[in-house]
Amino acid sequence: MKRILAALFALLMTLSLCGCEKLQQRLDDGKEKLHEKVLAVSDETLEAMNTVMQLRLYGDEDGAAAAELKSILTELDAALSVTDPDSALYALNRSGKSSDPTILALLNETAALTERTNGAADPSVYPAVRLWGFTGQNYHIPLQSEIDEILPLLGMAHVHVSADEVTLDPGSALDFGAFAKGWAADRCRAALEARDLPAVLTLGGNIQTVGAKPDGTDWVIGVADPDDPASYCLTLRLTGSRAVVTSGDYERYFEYEGRRYCHIFDPVTACPADTGLRSVTVVCDSGVMADGLATALFVMGREKAIEFWRGSNDFEMILIDADGISLTEGLKDAAAEAEFTVISR
Ligand code: ADP
Ligand code: MG
Repeated sequence: MKRILAALFALLMTLSLCGCEKLQQRLDDGKEKLHEKVLAVSDETLEAMNTVMQLRLYGDEDGAAAAELKSILTELDAALSVTDPDSALYALNRSGKSSDPTILALLNETAALTERTNGAADPSVYPAVRLWGFTGQNYHIPLQSEIDEILPLLGMAHVHVSADEVTLDPGSALDFGAFAKGWAADRCRAALEARDLPAVLTLGGNIQTVGAKPDGTDWVIGVADPDDPASYCLTLRLTGSRAVVTSGDYERYFEYEGRRYCHIFDPVTACPADTGLRSVTVVCDSGVMADGLATALFVMGREKAIEFWRGSNDFEMILIDADGISLTEGLKDAAAEAEFTVISR
């Protein structure tokens, strides 16, 4: 009898637990729906820093986060434009000095990257960029004598930074084009993390993911095909907040007698980098570092870039050249939809 009662009790418990489970499931489903509703996706597009920017935010109901990001991006654009006569950077390049806090803060970051990359990414390369007509799209190949004239003006030795002022030697000038979008992405990421708001930001060739994707899946990031930059030749599955930055020879370039001259310069020669790489993508935690390194590794070329990666432990990279796609071993499980070779330590 006791045994029969015990069996009945067990059966009742199981049934009620099943009921509870079902109820719990229903509650969870409801929460899920509520969650989805709260985290509605909103897309914003704006033009800043010479590129089209797309901001995909999850759960920015009143648009306050989008408004904050837009104000960060337009403010940085206004301060750091090399061509806008009203920008702080334009004033620095014209007068040779500046106390602008944005310029001083960014210079602090870029100087460290210039040193780390042994000068491969260096904002003081600007006189070369200008000479070749990349400012104002007046592209042309300068005379060797013109190149020789500006070469001594390049290098951070001509940039004197103190706590509250930067001064430039006569003839020297700066351009933060290789770093600014990554730095802007870092600023946006901090603003979004303070709001606990997941997002994926596309600032030209710079992509920044923020937080966890609300549906629990990975962020899927496409890496542009250098031969057809509007489409992807590889995808990456990533989690959390990551910077994915590509520097390629297809962003801005001109061709002359069958040769391509791109907008990424080798500060040693004051000429467009021509190492055989079509693009370099860097994946790491910092936007400004990813941006600076992508430019620097493009300038270094394949062999030196691999050597540089082997001597570092804070980024992963994808190199694309005529032989195809190579990527460092930390990305091999994240990469899909392409054939690639793995670069190991
Ligand atoms: P993008 O602007 O297409 O994202 P990059 O981040 O590589 O590409 O930056 C290239 C821009 O930075 C150029 O347009 C030029 O203004 C500037 N630049 C070119 N070469 C260098 C270099 N070696 N170091 C620093 N800045 C550079
Ligand atoms: Mg860059």
